[in-house]
Amino acid sequence: MNCPYCGKNQSQVLDKRAVKSTGEIRRRRKCLKCTRRYTTYERLGDLEFYVIKRDGSRQPFDISKLRSGVVKALEKRPAFSRIEEIVSKIEKKLKSKDKKEVESKVIGQTVLTELKKIDSVAYLRFVSVYRQFKDPGDFSKELEQFKV
Ligand SMILES: [Zn+2]
Repeated sequence: MNCPYCGKNQSQVLDKRAVKSTGEIRRRRKCLKCTRRYTTYERLGDLEFYVIKRDGSRQPFDISKLRSGVVKALEKRPAFSRIEEIVSKIEKKLKSKDKKEVESKVIGQTVLTELKKIDSVAYLRFVSVYRQFKDPGDFSKELEQFKV
């Protein structure tokens, strides 16, 4: 981001916050050359944060992996046609955290939160994979919260 006054591309970030409605990051900057202040709005690219896996390894965030998880959960469900909407909502939520690293469990939780709102069957499918259920009792515990 070049300074709009002198063109220098080195600045100090004074303040940053996520603009939730657009998924952008607003940064208040001070130019290191002319010291004038300006504001930038940046959209994070797909590779701008890393996922920390359960084993501690890091991987660049991959939207296609997220999408395939959601696709599996929503297969043959009425909400299947809304996949792109759901995936982009999850993506925006993750990016609005404005972090360089996000734990895979945080991503899982974000997906679960969104699926729970739209389809309880899709939610249960995803949760069974995500939590790697070891016995059927776990599954019925999850089911109980949907009983009316
Ligand atoms: Zn400047």
